[in-house]
Amino acid sequence: MKKVGFVGWRGMVGSVLMDRMKEENDFKLIHPVFFTTSQIGEPGPDIGSGVQPLIDANSVEYLGDMDLVVSCQGSDYTKQMHSLLRNSGWNGYWIDAASFLRKSERSIIVLDPINSDQIEKGIDTGIKDYVGGNCTVSLMLMAIGGLFKENLIQWVCSMTYQAASGAGAASMQELLTQMKQIGEISNKSQTKSSSNILEIDKDINKFINSDKISKENFGYSLAGNVLPYIDSQLKNGQSREEWKNQFETNKILGITNDPIPLDGICVRVGSMRCHSQALTIKLKKPIPIGDLETIIEKSNKWVRVVQNSKEASLNELTPSAVSGKLNIPVGRLRIMNMGDDFVSAFTSGDQLLWGAAEPLRRVLKILIKNSS
Ligand code: NAP
Repeated sequence: MKKVGFVGWRGMVGSVLMDRMKEENDFKLIHPVFFTTSQIGEPGPDIGSGVQPLIDANSVEYLGDMDLVVSCQGSDYTKQMHSLLRNSGWNGYWIDAASFLRKSERSIIVLDPINSDQIEKGIDTGIKDYVGGNCTVSLMLMAIGGLFKENLIQWVCSMTYQAASGAGAASMQELLTQMKQIGEISNKSQTKSSSNILEIDKDINKFINSDKISKENFGYSLAGNVLPYIDSQLKNGQSREEWKNQFETNKILGITNDPIPLDGICVRVGSMRCHSQALTIKLKKPIPIGDLETIIEKSNKWVRVVQNSKEASLNELTPSAVSGKLNIPVGRLRIMNMGDDFVSAFTSGDQLLWGAAEPLRRVLKILIKNSS
């Protein structure tokens, strides 16, 4: 059995990956070894075959003993350890949730329901680095990948509503703390001003904008607020999160010469888990909505068209409706006022599943199968 080293298994993405692998009995196919950057020697996770002490994730020697390494630790770790390991002569498969290797010409961004052909080609041509895509990019492709595959799209503008969990475990905890703190201010305020909502709102807003609220991770209050900037600032006015949209979508689709333009604004909102996005799609030619729905639904077995009604949208198209599920609902599909070739769509998906852990879990199985 192949030895597979797991780094970052206790973080947001890593924990969801562990759960999915247990659910699908994937650990039976491999010999797993668990690493840590902070808890060396402490007990590792119980995956049903006894608990082993955690190994130093900064040891080239121990990592080099693995046939495959799966890292859900983050780009800083990958930047440091991937090159050290490769420079030591290690030639195993490296699977990663972080963005650092996505730009490399020697990596494949994996989303096998959309690009299994590229993954197979990568294996045949000796590519050793397989990286999960940006969460909103992968979710958007799971939702409307069929329209790209049929070459119907001229460009896409996506406005995102990204959950706190997209920023990691500590940020999710911070949102909960902020909500609790705001609740306490609200209780005090209600007693003081006996339910004058404008007075209560004034007290809460003052608190949100003060240094008293916990904001070590986000830098601002996410609770009771929206944050219209995710990741670092680029010179062209985009955020790095926004830049990933066009680059990664085209890389996943294997379009290198004449990339499809994709752009938009990425926004952090106070939902706990699951990213949503509102899409404006410019088609190459007008196509009836019914035909688009058929193409979307045929694309993969997880995507589902939601009827464009108020009731269906509010019941089926929200972060809380998809949390913990592999389904990818797409709704609000209609021709827009701008013209017959403009279509709106709204989609919500669990960014820890299809947006992160699931493509990694699946590519691990593909690589194991191909290397045995
Ligand atoms: P995370 O939750 O912050 O976990 C990363 C590491 O932080 C853990 O493996 C753990 O490493 C350490 N850690 C410190 N305090 C922790 C705590 N209280 N609970 C759990 N772990 C703690 O990061 P993540 O969101 O999983 O992201 C990992 C990588 O995946 C990043 O590169 C991210 O950009 C990418 N990604 C994330 C998402 C998402 O939705 N979150 C989606 C796609 C891609 P040790 O055990 O070694 O200390």
